[in-house]
Amino acid sequence: MSRKILIIEDNLTNLALIRDILTFHGHEIAVASGGQEGVSLAREIMPELILMDIQMPGMDGITACGILKGDPATSRLKIIALTSFAMEGDQDKFLKNGFDGYLSKPINTRELPDQIKRWLEGGE
Ligand SMILES: [Mg+2]
Repeated sequence: MSRKILIIEDNLTNLALIRDILTFHGHEIAVASGGQEGVSLAREIMPELILMDIQMPGMDGITACGILKGDPATSRLKIIALTSFAMEGDQDKFLKNGFDGYLSKPINTRELPDQIKRWLEGGE
């Protein structure tokens, strides 16, 4: 089943990789390369899932997530943090910041489709 997923990531190589994998698996993908653009696009298309990079120039992912979660119109959007901080305890930090889940980079390309499926189905 096709689902609309928004990828917000300033690293264009990562962005293309994730987009290509999820497109191959039948998802409808929208992309933004920065936090501000991502927030605007999220409001416009109301995706079922957002993959949000944390470290971005301009508006970072934590700020963008806070804006979307703080607005009643977008507060129910599911937002997954994309981060290269692969440290113990980071998951709690991101969940405290309003994210619904956490995906560490580098992306595991074999596991990504199943992880996405679980989030779309409402699991962790
Ligand atoms: Mg980045």
